[in-house]
Amino acid sequence: MFIGHYALAFAAKKVTPRTSLATLLFASAWCDILWPVLLALGWERVKIQPGATAFNPLVFESYPWSHSLALVLFWSALIGGLHFLVRRERKAALVVSLLVLSHWALDWISHRPDMPIWPGGAGHGLGLWNHVGPTVLVEGTLFAAGVALYLRTTRAPSWRGHLSLWSFLVLILAMYAGDASGSAPPPSVQILTGFAFLGWLPPLWGIWIERTRALA
Ligand SMILES: [Zn+2]
Repeated sequence: MFIGHYALAFAAKKVTPRTSLATLLFASAWCDILWPVLLALGWERVKIQPGATAFNPLVFESYPWSHSLALVLFWSALIGGLHFLVRRERKAALVVSLLVLSHWALDWISHRPDMPIWPGGAGHGLGLWNHVGPTVLVEGTLFAAGVALYLRTTRAPSWRGHLSLWSFLVLILAMYAGDASGSAPPPSVQILTGFAFLGWLPPLWGIWIERTRALA
């Protein structure tokens, strides 16, 4: 999934309002933040194959460290545990931990059966990406609901709070529209890896959003 991960981060702000949106965005997208690093290191592999799914031209050949359930459970416990050590807030740490884990569940819904339970294990996935309309419907609904919750939880004391949030939403939705419209696949895995590093942007943007918005 793509914007569905961010949807859960926005929604989580309602559950744990004092936790930074940057942290929530980081947790929900952690697997995809890690993934380009592992691709660049050659520890995980992807192939570009136009038509692999209707929504996405990628064949995930191997991604045990970032996307096997066993490792995602490990990351979930580690990141939630670190958050607790730093903040000492049990509920916030649990939410952060669950957000990391939610990544696997949402990707499992979207991906073809290529998501292993443990490294090297057989792949699983419901294959929502085989259908563009339902993909956009499910992710779009999730995203709208998550952002709506976030808008009820926070407010913009000045124009900066509107600018930071809405510029992020416009950018993410424009990137998503590019994906959904079946724009040309990346010409090489190297360029794809470079683009995948853009996944680091939302948590950084989240710092700006967090600093410019207040709790409602
Ligand atoms: Zn993912």
